Amino acid sequence: MSTTCTRCEGTGFLNIDQIPEGEFDFCNEMGKDFHAEILKWIERNKDHDVQVCDCCGDGENWYGEPGEHYNSEDPPGPDGPYAYNGGLCECH
Ligand SMILES: [Zn+2]
Repeated sequence: MSTTCTRCEGTGFLNIDQIPEGEFDFCNEMGKDFHAEILKWIERNKDHDVQVCDCCGDGENWYGEPGEHYNSEDPPGPDGPYAYNGGLCECH
């Protein structure tokens, strides 16, 4: 059971719209390792705010599948990854 992260709209990235159109063939990249390709783009390019989502991830890596929250990995309380937010992921 997972829920799509609304903060990044399931892409796993914030500000992904800053990547110029035409930079990726998203339809094809989705089938390949889309997230790895975007991470490489982020490394190659410095003048942008594109980053790993800080809701389904921590800004550098994802807690689970990019763009998704797994209930089992989204526990309430002080031990979960969202403990700083009262145990709730930020998009909920
Ligand atoms: Zn997210």
